[in-house]
Amino acid sequence: MRCRQATRLISDAHERELALDELLGLRVHLLICPHCRQFQRNCHQLSQMMRTFKQLENQEK
Ligand SMILES: [Zn+2]
Repeated sequence: MRCRQATRLISDAHERELALDELLGLRVHLLICPHCRQFQRNCHQLSQMMRTFKQLENQEK
């Protein structure tokens, strides 16, 4: 798997369930590629932040 595919899957994972072979490919890639690990960390923080914003919005209602 290439970094392009890996980063694509990482962002897809927030919108849909990945297939098992996609997940496995991604796992293996993340083991060998620090760049994509960093990307995943950033994506994760971003989605956590979005979730927090949504929760705050809901609380205000
Ligand atoms: Zn990579």
